Amino acid sequence: MSDETTADGDERNASVIVVGGGPAGLSAALFTAKNGLETTVFDTDKTWMHKAHLFNYLGIGSVGGSEFMATARQQVDDFGVDRRQGERVTAVSVDDGDSVTVETEADAYAADYVILATGANRDLADELGCAFTDEDVVDVDVDMETSVDGVYATGAMVRPEEWQAAIAVGDGAAAALNIISNEQGEYFHDFDVPADAERVFGELVAE
Ligand SMILES: Cc1cc2nc3c(=O)[nH]c(=O)nc-3n(C[C@H](O)[C@H](O)[C@H](O)COP(=O)(O)OP(=O)(O)OC[C@H]3O[C@@H](n4cnc5c(N)ncnc54)[C@H](O)[C@@H]3O)c2cc1C
Repeated sequence: MSDETTADGDERNASVIVVGGGPAGLSAALFTAKNGLETTVFDTDKTWMHKAHLFNYLGIGSVGGSEFMATARQQVDDFGVDRRQGERVTAVSVDDGDSVTVETEADAYAADYVILATGANRDLADELGCAFTDEDVVDVDVDMETSVDGVYATGAMVRPEEWQAAIAVGDGAAAALNIISNEQGEYFHDFDVPADAERVFGELVAE
């Protein structure tokens, strides 16, 4: 949806607003920010993860939900996500000019894409006119695209059950990769190898 250049002729990266900073939203933000898209997350910290303790997240033996969230927040912050903790989104609209506007209690923000990740709360998707399934969840394809152009939905809001952190994280990643592929005009693979560690993480890489 984004232009390649600004009026000044400078290259401009596409921008993404993520509404909701649970596992789905932060996973999406991680992938978009890591790959150079301007990424903003709005979150009110009502994630179910604060009630959870994970024994079913592959690759992690046991972790408290809040501890998981603290690590995830640090991870997206490290990649430059503008994480606006405590700022509630009150409305989302799609503009004629192929951009989205997100209103919060504080301000209004424009972006090329919006990824909804508001957990079991589907109000914003409903107000936007996104199609719902017969089971009354947001209808998305495997890339998490809704029926509204430029609007993605992820995590608990797209499933009547099967509410698991691992699934939400996968949904967020799928949405982000679809956006990046869309911007690049070809399928994008976010593949790193051990030799990338120093470049990607610099001093944060454990010895
Ligand atoms: C008691 C309990 C135990 C659980 N145990 C496990 C477990 O053992 N293993 C497991 O995998 N899963 C478990 N879960 C489920 C897991 O927590 C969810 O699957 C996961 O949190 C869903 O992620 P999400 O990103 O879709 O939504 P959430 O984690 O709910 O995140 C949504 C975020 O969006 C924010 N938000 C909503 N509306 C707005 C708005 N308008 N503006 C800004 N921000 C907004 C919310 O504040 C919230 O932080 C458990 C859940 C509960 C309740």
